[in-house]
Amino acid sequence: MDPFVYNANPGRVIFGGGTLSRLPAEVERLGLTRVLVLATPVQESYAQDIARRIGARSAGVFADARMHTPVEVTERAMAAVAAQHIDGLVAVGGGSTTGLAKAIALRTDLPQIVAPTTYAGSEMTPILGETQAGRKVTQSSPRILPEVVIYDVDLTFTLPVAQSVTSGINAIAHAVEALYTREANPLISMLAESAIAALAGGLPGIARNPTDREARTQALYGAWLAGICLGSVGMALHHKLCHTLGGLYDLPHAETHTAVLPHAVAYNRDAAPQAMRAVARAMKVDEPATGLYDLAASLGAKMALRDLGMPQRGIAEAAAVALSNPYWNPRPLEQAGIHSLLASAYDGTRP
Ligand code: NAD
Repeated sequence: MDPFVYNANPGRVIFGGGTLSRLPAEVERLGLTRVLVLATPVQESYAQDIARRIGARSAGVFADARMHTPVEVTERAMAAVAAQHIDGLVAVGGGSTTGLAKAIALRTDLPQIVAPTTYAGSEMTPILGETQAGRKVTQSSPRILPEVVIYDVDLTFTLPVAQSVTSGINAIAHAVEALYTREANPLISMLAESAIAALAGGLPGIARNPTDREARTQALYGAWLAGICLGSVGMALHHKLCHTLGGLYDLPHAETHTAVLPHAVAYNRDAAPQAMRAVARAMKVDEPATGLYDLAASLGAKMALRDLGMPQRGIAEAAAVALSNPYWNPRPLEQAGIHSLLASAYDGTRP
């Protein structure tokens, strides 16, 4: 066995169906008396429901979370935090809402309780990406990590099938890269393999019936494990490329991950044989790259970056950005290989 470093992120996790009923007790356990509930405009009704559940300990709702955590939105939320003497945060939603809670916590160290409604996994990480003047800057701090996460399967039933699929593949991407990162360790690799198996097992059931409780439970469990992977070890080529593409062309987050992942895996295939065996085992396929492509495509995901709004010149531009700032990856970054990876993801061809 190779030597390794393992970082455990503290945090309390409550998992199951109907677990949101535990929220008032969790608010009380943290000693919070003036809680601000956060959501996106689309999920404002979730926030209102939560505020009702918390009762007198709720000080209001801020339902204006946006994708990519714009600093301008955080500043408006900070004004509400100050005006209402807020002493704790509850976030209900996907990575965008969690991002807002984290941005406020970074500035105030307020405790956070997060109830995730997608499979993005942000709730398990001490990482925050914020956008200002069109630039997304990522940082990590123990303040950013939520104190309590309540996974309630019931909150995920409304996530549309298309979004469930891409969000689930986004989670699989965390686990896949955790298997071949330079910081891989045996514990995280175990979680990563279980995460991929749970998500690959759950997503087809969700596509057949979005209210299939067993499939939803499996997927959310996989998302939790994948989130731990993302929060514990560094990522590699796939995440960097998606970050670059998202920043350059404002592409949708989970959809971009879905289109790129099979090609990033194909690129790394021969450089990370042990990780590839783990992915293949978890997915019950022979080839991880085609297995991932077939899973996503068969569940109706868009597989071409072109269809997500990336311009064709983006192939050369994103390759140039990647090569100008090379980072660690199991297979070193090579001009021709990266270019052809991006060209395949642009066209959405099967790897
Ligand atoms: P999202 O949070 O942007 O959600 C997309 C839309 O779907 C929103 O309008 C949301 O309100 C709605 N929605 C979410 N759950 C729903 C549900 N159950 N029912 C109905 N509608 C629902 O999407 P996301 O993919 O979860 O998050 C993406 C963002 O999270 C990106 O900004 C990404 O960078 C960030 N992220 C950060 C980390 C991290 O560790 N820092 C990890 C993953 C993602």
